[in-house]
Amino acid sequence: MKNGGIVAVAILLGVAACQKEEQVADLTAQEQTDLVYLIQEEKLAHDVYVFAYEKYGEMIFNNITSSEQSHMDQVEVVLVKYGITNPIDGLDVGVFQNAALQTLYGNLIAIADSSLVHALKVGATIEDLDIHDIETLYANSVNPDLIGVYDVLTCGSRNHLRSFISKLDGLGETYVPQYLSTAEFDAIVNSAKGNCGN
Ligand code: MN
Ligand code: MN
Repeated sequence: MKNGGIVAVAILLGVAACQKEEQVADLTAQEQTDLVYLIQEEKLAHDVYVFAYEKYGEMIFNNITSSEQSHMDQVEVVLVKYGITNPIDGLDVGVFQNAALQTLYGNLIAIADSSLVHALKVGATIEDLDIHDIETLYANSVNPDLIGVYDVLTCGSRNHLRSFISKLDGLGETYVPQYLSTAEFDAIVNSAKGNCGN
């Protein structure tokens, strides 16, 4: 009887879990915080590359700006699906709700403004940071909507990092990773461009 009861409870929990998966499940507070931060971090990348393209006219910045716009759009789809207010709605280029990202934007723009090589190193820094930050988000969610976005954004960032490093290499310049380990950075730079599904 006792074992039968446990089995019955397990079946009931299983049914409840299945039913929950069929609904638009609420996200945890942490998942919401992560998405709200993530879309602002994508905007940071986008806005810095807008500045760099206007300043230097190098296509690498224009191409990656488009990719960052796509990343922002993909995070927005998840925000809308779960009814989360979009923190970048209506904000001009270079304006952020998050104070730390606002400060970081100012610092990165100042460096990018000083030379093309510095702007490319700022690009590498942003991608280095983005890959590192998204790696920490995986631990906070098992939701396929979030994991799917994290996968696409990481894949894109890895390509962007390869592009910036290749461009710097062509100019005889090197970049030292600031967020990723040297081993992980080397593994990314020495692997082939990924097909990120966009
Ligand atoms: Mn991105
Ligand atoms: Mn990027």
